[in-house]
Amino acid sequence: LKERIISMEKMAALGEMAAKVAHEIRNPLLAIGGFAKRLNKELKDGKSQEYIKIIIEEVKRLERILNEILSFVKPYPIAKESFEIKQLVDDVVNFVESTLKDNNNEFKLMINNNFTVLGNYDKLKEVLLNLISNANEATKDGLITLKIQKADKLPVEADADKEYFIIEVEDTGCGIEKANLKRIFDPFFTTKTTGTGLGLAISKRIVEEHGGIIKVESEVNKGTKFKVYLPIHKEQGGDNENSGS
Ligand code: ADP
Ligand code: MG
Repeated sequence: LKERIISMEKMAALGEMAAKVAHEIRNPLLAIGGFAKRLNKELKDGKSQEYIKIIIEEVKRLERILNEILSFVKPYPIAKESFEIKQLVDDVVNFVESTLKDNNNEFKLMINNNFTVLGNYDKLKEVLLNLISNANEATKDGLITLKIQKADKLPVEADADKEYFIIEVEDTGCGIEKANLKRIFDPFFTTKTTGTGLGLAISKRIVEEHGGIIKVESEVNKGTKFKVYLPIHKEQGGDNENSGS
């Protein structure tokens, strides 16, 4: 136990350090990006404009990495409201549709039931965006399916007094090797050259902050399925499981 407390303190100190470093890097980065954009407007020479565009793109990439690091290390108050999961899914689908075209993937939506969630809309949106972009990055000319359904069989970690629904994100992509399966939720674990390895670590934390559970099943060269179990929010007195749609 003592060791665990020490390692938790170390993690907290490390997190604070990382947050400070990220903040220190952000300001000069914003300046570089801003001035590069101005230069881009001034320059007429094609070659120079090409170079400036690369600077702008790379600054954007660094900003994305910084945001992911900050979102991971910074504790944030998680404000919760009640909303319909279908609304969130529609929002996410609009968001990702254009990016899916890059790898020529087909996207299929299967919503059998709508459920009410008590949660943070933006944070849960981040989870779905992470899972879908991972699926898209792992898949070419394949199929990505997003499915919402009632959870009949629950994982052992589930609270027996609650009812859950599942958001499933399944792809027909490269799959995850057995040796990597237990590491994918670790912060900074990535198999990608430009990855941060924070997407799943952040997603797992958000799901757990909602009283949920995240599970993965995968087979190399066949595909991967992530299942997010979330408690169904029961408004007092009301039956909130709307069928249809
Ligand atoms: P990143 O995407 O930056 O690498 P993530 O935390 O989102 O970080 O994912 C960690 C790793 O998990 C990825 O590098 C990849 O190896 C693996 N992974 C996640 N989702 C999938 C998927 N749908 N198919 C195959 N591998 C995946
Ligand atoms: Mg990712």
